[in-house]
Amino acid sequence: MMKIIRSIHEMKEQLEINKSKQIGFVPTMGFLHEGHLSLVKQANQENDIVIMSIFVNPLQFGPNEDFDRYPRNEQQDAKIAEETGVDILFIPDVREMYPEQMGISMTIEKGTNVLCGKSRPGHFDGVITVLTKLFHIVEPTRAYFGLKDAQQFAVVNTLVNELNFPLKLVGLPTIRETDGLAKSSRNVNLSPEERKEATSIYSSLKVGQKIIVDGIKNPDTIINEVKNYLQKSTTATIDYVELLSFPQLEEMTHINETIILAVAVQFGRARLIDNIILDCNGQQIDRIE
Ligand code: AMP
Repeated sequence: MMKIIRSIHEMKEQLEINKSKQIGFVPTMGFLHEGHLSLVKQANQENDIVIMSIFVNPLQFGPNEDFDRYPRNEQQDAKIAEETGVDILFIPDVREMYPEQMGISMTIEKGTNVLCGKSRPGHFDGVITVLTKLFHIVEPTRAYFGLKDAQQFAVVNTLVNELNFPLKLVGLPTIRETDGLAKSSRNVNLSPEERKEATSIYSSLKVGQKIIVDGIKNPDTIINEVKNYLQKSTTATIDYVELLSFPQLEEMTHINETIILAVAVQFGRARLIDNIILDCNGQQIDRIE
């Protein structure tokens, strides 16, 4: 039977009971889909117990972002989590996580002046703050993140390394719909027409990958091809198309190391992101530790 825990105090009691066990941790914002569940399944294979958190973290949403509109369905999430093998589901409310105005603020500079960091100021500060709290509350052996949010993975990697968190970070591949669209809780905010167009996000990344496989190593050429493709195939506004080293997230003039090719587009009510991580020959890299 899966346990549902809502307080930090009860979570600490559970840790006492599971003292000698290896803990796999999957932090989420809920409205679970196959992407989240793939992390749970992998965590189950590599640890004694799996703890999932569901917390829509107000600190990582900007004033004009979708905090209030973010989809939530706790009952269904609990059912799916249990069926997939979560042992402990931690669902704190905002008051439990932030009982008062924080007296400490965390800021991450490395890797945040690119990609989503540019258009979402403060977002990754909110991410590292909540994860610092969750890592201390859950004390995981391993923490699992999807590479769909690759910049988040890079930022958490910096957090864990620079602040010496005693845990291992695992990054796992993006799970997609059969037509290639990356699974996302935000996909429910797409109109039927937008949903059709949204498949071109992944196709645009594949166009970029093909150019790299064909031997083109100049980032600007690749970025332009991807942008052209997107402009022709969707009415969404392109927020960015970027090609950077991974996980350093630095610009380069010639591809000679692992790279991320990443896209963000804005539809009417949903901002969607996607990326592929490739070696210098254009072959996809799936697991990162
Ligand atoms: P979220 O609930 O959107 O904050 O996501 C929680 C975790 O699930 C993060 O580590 C995400 O990167 C991961 N995740 C979200 N969507 C996917 C996906 N389509 N494939 C793999 N992982 C995902």
